[in-house]
Amino acid sequence: MEPLAQTEAVQPVMHTPEHLAERPAWDCGVCGQPWPCAPARERLIRQYGRGTALAMLAWQYLEEAVRDLPDGPPGVLFERFVRWTR
Ligand SMILES: [Zn+2]
Repeated sequence: MEPLAQTEAVQPVMHTPEHLAERPAWDCGVCGQPWPCAPARERLIRQYGRGTALAMLAWQYLEEAVRDLPDGPPGVLFERFVRWTR
């Protein structure tokens, strides 16, 4: 399977760093904002569109975040993870 290895080799090594959540704090690993930060939201909207898929994904993140941040007020976490997808 030579072509596969070649495809991997040409993947750009340096590109815009992805704004991903650093768990269990759920702060962005790039900009340090509470995740999803603005760039992360933009990327998710680009990837999933503004629809059901995005909302379902946001709920999944919310569930995981609640597990990691049991002391975080649920209302605040809901605003942060799910509200923006509406
Ligand atoms: Zn960020």
